[in-house]
Amino acid sequence: MRPGPGPAGGGTICAMAETAQTEPEPIRLASPISELPAVSRAQATRLKRLGIETVNDLVRHLPMRYERQQAEGGIDDLTVNTVGSARGWVARTRWVSAGGRGKGRFEATLRDEVRTLALTWFNAPFLRSRIRPGMFIRVQGKVTLYGDHPQMVNPQWEDLTAQVDAPARQQRLRPVYPATEELRSETLEALIQDVLPQVLDRIIDPLPPALREHHAMPTLAEAYRMAHEPQSEQEAESARRRLAYNELLLLQLGIALKRHHNENHLRAPALRWSEALDRHIRARFPFELTQSQQQVIDEIARDLQKPHPMNRLLQGDVGSGKTVVALYAMLQACAQRYQSALMAPTELLAEQHHLSIANMLEGSNVRLALLTGGQSAAASKQRRRLNERIAAGQIDIVIGTQALVASQVSFANLGLVVIDEQHRFGVLQRAAFRQAAAGSGSEGGSDKSNGDGDGGEQATRWPHYLVMTATPIPRTLSMTVFGDLDVSTIRGMPPGRQSPVTKVVGPQKADSVYQYVAGRCRGGEQAYIVVPTIDESGQESAVQLKSVLAHAELIRDRYGQGLSVEALHGRMARPDRERVMQRFRDGDIDLLVATTVIEVGVDVPNATMMVVEHAERFGLAQLHQLRGRIGRGAGGVRSVCVFIADPSTDSAQARMEAIGSLTDGFAIAEKDLEIRGMGDFFGTRQHGLPPLRVASLPRHLDLLSLAGRDAAEIVKADPAMTDPAHQTLRKLLVQYHGEALGLIDVG
Ligand code: ADP
Ligand code: MG
Repeated sequence: MRPGPGPAGGGTICAMAETAQTEPEPIRLASPISELPAVSRAQATRLKRLGIETVNDLVRHLPMRYERQQAEGGIDDLTVNTVGSARGWVARTRWVSAGGRGKGRFEATLRDEVRTLALTWFNAPFLRSRIRPGMFIRVQGKVTLYGDHPQMVNPQWEDLTAQVDAPARQQRLRPVYPATEELRSETLEALIQDVLPQVLDRIIDPLPPALREHHAMPTLAEAYRMAHEPQSEQEAESARRRLAYNELLLLQLGIALKRHHNENHLRAPALRWSEALDRHIRARFPFELTQSQQQVIDEIARDLQKPHPMNRLLQGDVGSGKTVVALYAMLQACAQRYQSALMAPTELLAEQHHLSIANMLEGSNVRLALLTGGQSAAASKQRRRLNERIAAGQIDIVIGTQALVASQVSFANLGLVVIDEQHRFGVLQRAAFRQAAAGSGSEGGSDKSNGDGDGGEQATRWPHYLVMTATPIPRTLSMTVFGDLDVSTIRGMPPGRQSPVTKVVGPQKADSVYQYVAGRCRGGEQAYIVVPTIDESGQESAVQLKSVLAHAELIRDRYGQGLSVEALHGRMARPDRERVMQRFRDGDIDLLVATTVIEVGVDVPNATMMVVEHAERFGLAQLHQLRGRIGRGAGGVRSVCVFIADPSTDSAQARMEAIGSLTDGFAIAEKDLEIRGMGDFFGTRQHGLPPLRVASLPRHLDLLSLAGRDAAEIVKADPAMTDPAHQTLRKLLVQYHGEALGLIDVG
C-alpha cells in the first residue's frame, strides 16, 4: 500500500491561493447556488429539493456518515483478505450462464504492468455491455485467492478510461451525503469540494476566541472543512461536536437571554411571606405535608417574594399531591390581595379542583369561583356575571378551563397563574393565556413598585407562573424544551398511598377480569372501566360515545347484578356529569364506565380497581396517568389495575411491557422517550423550538450542559450582547431563533 495522504486536499491555505486567483466574482456564502458555474439549471432544481439554495446551505449540508476509501496501488500491492483498491486494463471478459434468467456470473481479467487480477460479479448480466476489453477501470473490494491467483468478488468499480493519467487515489474517508436518486452523494461531494475551499475564509466564527481556545475546539471554518473532508475519523467526530456545540450554544443563549430578561426587566408583585401566614395556610390542609411537598413549597414561596415573575415547573407523579402546593401559592397571593387563576385541561378536572379546594377553604373568607365553558344562554350569562366580579376584584381564586382564555376574562389584579397538567395544553394555548393574563392587572396590589426603570414592559405587571405536570420531563428534554423554567420536583407519595397491582392481559381474559372486579364491588369497593378514544383527533366522537354507552350496557347485563353501573363521557351536559361524579364519590355507583375524561385529576379514594379496554391504543404516559386514578384509598386494600391489550406492533408491545413492570413515573417517562424517540416525544412542532440539525440528543448531552454553562456566563457578563466579541452570536441568535424563541418562555 502507498503511504498516507499527501499535503493536497483542499485546506485553508489552498483556499486563499484560489480566491486570490483570476476568479472575476468571488463566491459568497449568501450567493444563490444557481450562480455557480458548475451548477446547471436542472441541478439547481435538484439541489433545491434537498433544501440547498445558497452556498451557505451547501456548506451546511453535512455528511450523514463516512466510507473508507482504500489507497490505490498496483495489483501486486494488494493484500489477501483485506479490502484494497487497484486499477488496470480490462483484458478479457466472459459471461457464464447458470441456467435461470440473469443467473450466472460475469468474469473479467484486470491487468497492469506487473500481473493480473480475476474479477467476478454474480448475477449481473448487465455488466456485459458495460465492462468491455480495452477499458481502464478502478476496482475496490476484498481480495481473496483463487488457487494462487488474486481475485475480487463483486467489487465496486469505476470507469477511468478517460482519465488514464489521473494520479492514483489516496486512502481517505469519503463523505456520504443525504442525497436523492437524481442527485447522488458523489455529485454533491464533487460540488462541495469545488466550492468549499473558495468560501472557507468567509466563514466567521461566532464563538469568542477565548472560549474556543478554552474548549480546545477548532474554528468554525476548520470544523466545516473537517466535516466535509476529514483526514481521519477523529477529525470527522471533532467537526461534528464543534458544529453541534454551536447549535446548542445558540439554543442555550436564547434561553439564557429570555431568563435574564424575565429576571431583570419584567415586574411581578412581590408576595410577602411570614411564619404566621404559613401557619394560617397550613391549618387549612386536612393532612401533614410530606417533606417533599414542604420543600417545593419553600422553593415556590421564595420565588413569589421576588419582584419579578416566577417561572416554575412543578413535576410530581400522579397522586404525589401537587394540588395543595398550588393552593398554598394561591393563598400566599390571596393574602396580599392578589388574584390567582388555576387552569385545568378538562371541565371535569376543573370541577374536581373546585370541589376539593372549596372543601379546604370552607369557613374562610377566600372568594372562590369556577369558570367553565358551556354554550347555553344561561351559561354565558353566568359567565358574564362572573367576569364582572373578577374584573372588579371580588373573586380571589378562579378555577377554570380554556374558557379562562377564550372568554377574555380581565382580572383586577392577577398575581399568580397556575396551569395544571400542562402536557395537555399546547404551547400556543399557554402563550395566549399568559398574554391575556399579562394584559390585565397592571394596577397592582398593595406592594410598591420595585423601581426597575420605566417604559413599556416595565410598566406591565406580570403574574407569577406555575405549571404542574405529572408527566415528568426527562432531563434531556427539560434542559431544552423547558430550559427557561425552574424545576421543582415532588418525590415520593403521601403516606398510605400504594401503587396498584398491575396486570396486562389479553382480550380472552376479559370475562374473568370483569367477574373478579364485579365480585370485589359487591364487597363495597368501586371501579373504573376505561374505553379508549377512537377518534384520531383525540376528541371524543359520536362513535366513542356509542362505544361507552354500549360497553356500559354490556357490563350492566353480564356482570352488573346487584350493582349500579353508569357511563361518563365528555359530551354529557355539565350538570349530568357532575351528578354522576357526585354519585360515584358518594358510593352510589359501583362501576363507572368512562372515556379518558377521567384521565387527569379525578380523585375518589374508594375507587380501588380499574380496567382499561384496548390499552394498546394509549400512550405510555397516558396509561400511567389513568392508573394513577386508583390507589388513593386508605384502609389497606390493595388496588388493582388491569390493562386489556392486544398489541400488534413492537412499540405497543414495548409499552405494555413497560406499564406492566414500571411503577415510577420518572422511569416511565424515560422509557417513553426511549420507545418513541426524541423527535416524537412532544411533537417537535409543539414545543416551538428550532429544530436541531447537527446536534442529537441524548448523544450530545454533555455538550448541551457545556453550552448551558457558557451561555449563562456570556449573558451574565454581557446581557445586552453588545460586546464586539459577541456580535456574530447576536446576529445568529436573531436569525436562527427569531419567532421560535418568542415561544419558549411559555413553558
Ligand atoms: P396530583 O399530584 O396527582 O395532582 P393530588 O394533588 O390530586 O395529586 O393529590 C392526591 C391525593 O393525595 C389527594 O386526595 C390529596 O388530598 C392527597 N394528599 C396530598 N398531599 C397529602 C399529604 N401530605 N398527606 C396525605 N394526603 C395527601
Ligand atoms: Mg393533579
